[in-house]
Amino acid sequence: MNAHTRAAWQEKFDRLRPDGRMFIEGRRCGAKTGERFVRTRPMDGIDGYEAARGMAADVDGAVASARRAFENKRWRGLEPLARKEIMLKWANLVRANAEELALLETYDVGKPIGDTFNVDIPSCARTLQFYGETIDKLYDEVAPTGPNDRAIVKKEPLGVVGVITPWNYPLIIDAWKLGAALAAGNSVVLKPAEQSSLGALRLAELAMEAGLPAGVVNVVTGYGHEAGKPLALHDDVAMIAFTGSTVIGRTIMGYAAQSNGKRVALELGGKSPVIVFADGDLDAAASAIAWGCFYNSGETCHASTRVIVERSVQDALVEKIGAIATGLKQGDPLDPATQIGALVEEEHMGKVLGLIGKGHEEGASLRLGGNRVLTELGGYYVEPTIFADASNAMSIAREEIFGPVLTVIPFDSDQEALAMANDTIYGLAAGVFTSDMTRAHHFSEDIQAGTVWINAYDLSNLATPFGGFKQSGFGRDRSVHAIDKYMDYKTVWQRFL
Ligand code: NAP
Repeated sequence: MNAHTRAAWQEKFDRLRPDGRMFIEGRRCGAKTGERFVRTRPMDGIDGYEAARGMAADVDGAVASARRAFENKRWRGLEPLARKEIMLKWANLVRANAEELALLETYDVGKPIGDTFNVDIPSCARTLQFYGETIDKLYDEVAPTGPNDRAIVKKEPLGVVGVITPWNYPLIIDAWKLGAALAAGNSVVLKPAEQSSLGALRLAELAMEAGLPAGVVNVVTGYGHEAGKPLALHDDVAMIAFTGSTVIGRTIMGYAAQSNGKRVALELGGKSPVIVFADGDLDAAASAIAWGCFYNSGETCHASTRVIVERSVQDALVEKIGAIATGLKQGDPLDPATQIGALVEEEHMGKVLGLIGKGHEEGASLRLGGNRVLTELGGYYVEPTIFADASNAMSIAREEIFGPVLTVIPFDSDQEALAMANDTIYGLAAGVFTSDMTRAHHFSEDIQAGTVWINAYDLSNLATPFGGFKQSGFGRDRSVHAIDKYMDYKTVWQRFL
């Protein structure tokens, strides 16, 4: 049997025995209270495994474990070459266990197996490799001084870093943060979203297998208000690296202020505009927008959900996007042919359908989709949906829907297009399609966003920083720059007598 047919994936899936216990001090363990919670599978609505319901006492244990590892210099005290080799081995173990990790991710969040296996897991491995490779290539500085002095400007790790992540690209985002925080020499306590514990737990086990000392990576599973909150309030945590919604990001800043003034880095929500001019390549724009908006069921922070299009080409563009969206295969996430899977949970599906309802109520013109589909599978599926003739004031243009819903807004002048693009609390990403490079240059300068694509959307690699302006957060993931925030400068000034 071909290793990656629908039947083969199902067989492997049936053999999975997900382990939802936490990972602290290099061992699996239950919550101190003994409490657990059930994860319902988004692909079929069936109650699946039970995960440990971590709370403050578990967080205390994990932070103490991370602190011991830091103080004992179990990790930061190793030769750079040794740390690099462990990280590279870890990356290779992720590759060697790609099928299992892909299945765990699909189990938890309902993504198509073709995406978890071909995109998420390889990307996770590449990220660990990327940060591993930086470890023996980063230098400190010698500052200019007089001849009798030497001032070394060193960078040092912060201590225990708390990492709180969302469910939409769990292993990719975990790797962005763990990779950079560990390359800097910190110890980590990771609190994954309660919807996506499994990948994080296996990733931590594989780290140990690769040779990461016990206590350097700990994972506390559980709910945000029960496990994430005590982590963000903890006085022995030096920093919280958070990815999630803007509302919770602001809450995290409050916890930092209420406790030890720890530093925070926030990767938050988005409502990214794509401006399409009549002189742009409409086929290229349609393809980039359709994939940018509907990939991962629209559960993407920088999804291209808000299209601002020159009025004369609105209908042509919408037709092209609709044709691509209609051709996407939505269905069973274990089918390798599936391109759009399930939404992460029933409550989230309700939110997406509610915003589709608001699109109707507020007068946008529905051009495609709009419904829950595939109810026979038992999971949470919403079809690709397109609203056109919308205005930037509508809820579907302002709120982050986080589902497969595209809002198309016509414009009549460059000034109007730019003003609408920036008229949002978010600033994560944007796109511009035009054949006029002078115009493209000005728009890329004037749009307030962490990334601006010209005649493309969602292109990236590990060399480019990723993150937002405005209420999309601050601090960057990816690239070597991401390491900076996990370190601080120390000056050592020596006088030669
Ligand atoms: P979320 O509700 O903000 O949750 C994110 C994480 O915070 C989860 O682990 C959650 O735990 C935890 N949390 C919730 N309440 C908390 C509290 N009071 N204290 C501490 N932690 C708490 O976001 P989500 O629904 O998982 O993810 C979707 C959001 O993430 C979207 O807004 C999306 O745009 C954003 N995102 C941004 C980026 C980026 O790079 N900018 C990337 C991906 C996603 P529980 O889930 O267990 O409650």
